[in-house]
Amino acid sequence: MTSLAGAGESRDWARPLQAAQIAPRQVLDELMYALDTTSIIAITDRRGIITHVNDRFCEISRYSREELLGQTHRIVSSGRHSKEFFKEMWRTIGRGEVWKNEICNRAKDGSEYWVDTTIIPLLDEQGKPARYVAIRTEETARHLAEEQVRRLAYTDSVTGLVNRESMLRTISTAVESGSGKDFNAFVSISVDELSVVNDAFGFEAGDRLLLEASKRLHAIEGERAHVGRIGSNTFGVLLPNLGADCREAESACLALIRRMLETLSGPLELGSGVVIDVSASVGYVLWIGADAGAGSEQEEASGCSANEFIVTDDPHEVVKCSEIARKRARREGGPHRLRQFQQRMLHEARDRVRLISELHRGIEKGELQLFAQPIVDRDRRVIGEEGLIRWFSSELGTVAPDEFIPLAEQTGVIVEIGDWVLEEACRTLARWSSDPARDGLTFSVNLSERQLRVDGFADRVREAIKRHGVPPGRLTLELTESVLHTDLERTVGMLAVLRTQGVQSSLDDFGTGYSSLSYLQQLPVQQLKIDRSFVSSVVDDVQAAAIAQTIVWLGRTFKLQIVAEGVETEEQFEKLREIGVDAFQGYLFGRPRPVRDSLVSV
Ligand code: C2E
Ligand code: MG
Ligand code: MG
Repeated sequence: MTSLAGAGESRDWARPLQAAQIAPRQVLDELMYALDTTSIIAITDRRGIITHVNDRFCEISRYSREELLGQTHRIVSSGRHSKEFFKEMWRTIGRGEVWKNEICNRAKDGSEYWVDTTIIPLLDEQGKPARYVAIRTEETARHLAEEQVRRLAYTDSVTGLVNRESMLRTISTAVESGSGKDFNAFVSISVDELSVVNDAFGFEAGDRLLLEASKRLHAIEGERAHVGRIGSNTFGVLLPNLGADCREAESACLALIRRMLETLSGPLELGSGVVIDVSASVGYVLWIGADAGAGSEQEEASGCSANEFIVTDDPHEVVKCSEIARKRARREGGPHRLRQFQQRMLHEARDRVRLISELHRGIEKGELQLFAQPIVDRDRRVIGEEGLIRWFSSELGTVAPDEFIPLAEQTGVIVEIGDWVLEEACRTLARWSSDPARDGLTFSVNLSERQLRVDGFADRVREAIKRHGVPPGRLTLELTESVLHTDLERTVGMLAVLRTQGVQSSLDDFGTGYSSLSYLQQLPVQQLKIDRSFVSSVVDDVQAAAIAQTIVWLGRTFKLQIVAEGVETEEQFEKLREIGVDAFQGYLFGRPRPVRDSLVSV
């Protein structure tokens, strides 16, 4: 006689059926009827061969009874479950225990259906399974709903790509399934026009931009690359298991980046006739799992230095490092914005944060000082000074302007610093105006692009001049060519207005920027400063001399005063005089000194 399994979970099932066995025949019939009409039922022999199916089984599987009998359940296998999944099932029911789980099956027409499955072993007199009863209820609708929720939680709704959360999981699982000794790469790629498009054409256009960019990136997704959206304007691409040679991993990653940039570039239609050219900033990181071991051994074996890859199992760390490299690439600008993450960037990032907070503190404590450096004419007579800022930090020592001005620009602090420099300059000019030996001198201040973009800049200059009583023609504003790239029209207008109020303008570091000639025609500047890099080689390098000469001719054509910066030797001075330069600045004539004692005769 067969009896129901007695162990574990099976008892819950056994109880009502045992009750049914002792119940009158009618109760049993009713129970069987209820089960038969509500559930999908199959009975197999001990090898799993189907010996009985009810009508609902045939309905849902779309196989006829004749097709099913004599087969195993493999006939409805969807291939979605692993071998281990079924092995575990057979281990459980083989022990005579009830097994429960959700299974995805495939019907004869190829459609999938999900069933909540309970398999009950019926035991023979030796307590061994003789047959199995499988009772299933259909759960396809619930399962699809759950899948939808899961998809929403792990998919980006704009592009349909996996989101950051999901990408982090993919990084973990893809790497776990690798050999453990392999290098992996993660690429972070941002579409830099997104915020401009959002501002100018609205979020719909921004979404369109992201969607189009994601489609292009998706096209390169293959067996190896996984693409996702990991930030508002940023996509991430994972390249797992690139082998144990770091250089080869790097080449594979760079080849992929090249393909990505090729597919991304080119005009992109945003609807309503708006077409833009996409440009991207790219950062990538190479990494290896912590199990692979770190240190010099790893370094030697891989062919890369420890600075060039990271050792981690943390997907957050991987994404973070790729983003540090990408942001660095973006900051550095230029047409090919691509950087590999290097360990030293982490220290630099920390140093930057420290420098920013120190700068705020330094400004409050009055650690900034204005220095000035003389500018002389062809007879070495001082004709003016250039104001140069210095930061004597109690914490960091003397910090060069080239180190902190770019940071001040990025954080916007430059506006505050610039206002203070302007005040100091006007105060100095006011003092000089009452001294007959100095009343004809000019004072130049350096301006950052950011200062010009703040509303009311021209008004503030006018007010400062008025407040201090600065005579006309004495204050000079030095701009670099970078200032001219954003909103040239506005800059031109502002300089023209300031010119009418007696403020001169000068183009600093001339020759190092972009197409200077076209700007020169439009810009109301009165002075050009030849960059130090040409001056330092003007004596030995014919090309540098030719450039300096061309700048002088240009200056003649546009009636501009030409100043040479960074003159250090008599030979340079002579050569520049020969070429026809009007004024000179450099250590040969005087180093920058505190503005109050700056007028030492040279
Ligand atoms: P810049 O305006 O081109 O200033 C000239 C730089 O050349 C100064 O460096 C000056 O000290 C240096 N210099 C002058 N003569 C010689 C020389 O004979 N040999 C060499 N090797 N160098 C010489 P500094 O003071 O370090 O300033 C660097 C840059 O920082 C400036 O370049 C300017 O772009 C920026 N900067 C300085 N002060 C300010 C400021 O108040 N506001 C803004 N926005 N930028 C400033
Ligand atoms: Mg300057
Ligand atoms: Mg300069």
